[in-house]
Amino acid sequence: MSDTTTVPMIDLGRQFRSFEGDLIEIFRRVGRSGMYVDGSELRKFQVEFAEYCGVPYAVGVGNATDGLAIVLQGMGIGRGDEVITAANSFVASGGSIAEVGATPVFADIREDLNIDPGSVARLVTSRTKAIMPVHLTGQPADMDALHEIAKTHSLKIIEDAAQAVGACYKGKCVGGLGDAAVFSLHPLKNLHVYGDGGVITTKSSEIYNTCMQIRNHGLIDRDTSVRVGRNSRLDEIQAAIATYKLAQIDDLNERFRAIAHCYSNELSSCVVVPREHDDTYSVYHNYVIQAENRDALKEHMASCGIATKIRYPRLINQQPAYGRMLDPSVQTPVALRVNSRILSLPIFPEMTNEETSAVINAVQDFYS
Ligand SMILES: *Cc1c(COP(=O)(O)O)cnc(C)c1O
Repeated sequence: MSDTTTVPMIDLGRQFRSFEGDLIEIFRRVGRSGMYVDGSELRKFQVEFAEYCGVPYAVGVGNATDGLAIVLQGMGIGRGDEVITAANSFVASGGSIAEVGATPVFADIREDLNIDPGSVARLVTSRTKAIMPVHLTGQPADMDALHEIAKTHSLKIIEDAAQAVGACYKGKCVGGLGDAAVFSLHPLKNLHVYGDGGVITTKSSEIYNTCMQIRNHGLIDRDTSVRVGRNSRLDEIQAAIATYKLAQIDDLNERFRAIAHCYSNELSSCVVVPREHDDTYSVYHNYVIQAENRDALKEHMASCGIATKIRYPRLINQQPAYGRMLDPSVQTPVALRVNSRILSLPIFPEMTNEETSAVINAVQDFYS
């Protein structure tokens, strides 16, 4: 390893450059069409994305946070209702629930970082309307166990699949594993566009129709608004780019997986590496190890020129904005403990083998 190696968490410019000619061509095509919002590019993306997820319907939206709130609102969830989600997710998982006036309830996690169905079951009350599992890091949650709970208590399941385009669970793509799902197309996600973007998927024509209305002011034609809605559409340029990236995503995800497997093979003797269950296909939006002396390891990595991140340093139930709306008796001990040990290593499809080796060497060096 050379002393000058520097490895970033992610380098989005490399992917842009690798597709640059095609991306410029897309910009030219959409620019010349004169149609920039709610046109044929969005419709095409929705058809192709739905097909990719194995569901009949997709709805392009402005971002995944809006998408989650639109789905909740569309299901009639609001004031007085509770929705259970994972404590260790990105803050938007809780924010979307709070935004529609409902109360987020944060479940504990398992050692694999995904939501713990046992904790979910203990948190169900008469006010619970839905479970929002997060396929954290691109690893599907334990959907069978969650479906059992949902069935017993007549709850909806909304997948927060923001990190998981292309992930599979028991042979099925995420996006079709609940009543609705929401994906993010944000630049830091596996399938990304050049700005904000998101997409809802569902098997239900009713949820589809409602979400289509809510994302566009509740309009059913140019002049008739039948419900209170908002403005949150995936614009034409981003939709065209998303369609283009969708054709690449399986290859990109294979590369994420190759890097992840290389890390796991080399690092499992010194840190806890992510374990993939036999029946899941994880896409490693994020590669998270659990390490002794995490903070010292992070410092050591930095001194070797290698970026690392803690995703996320605070649980949502520890955030000042959320703490005050929570029942203090609800605790998430596993999430708390695991959170002092997690560290995300650099992972992106355009990472070189030299960079991957530099990361591995630096971790091994710390523990030797
Ligand atoms: C990124 C992310 C979101 C929010 O996505 P945006 O498109 O940025 O609104 C929601 N949930 C999870 C788990 C995420 O990682």
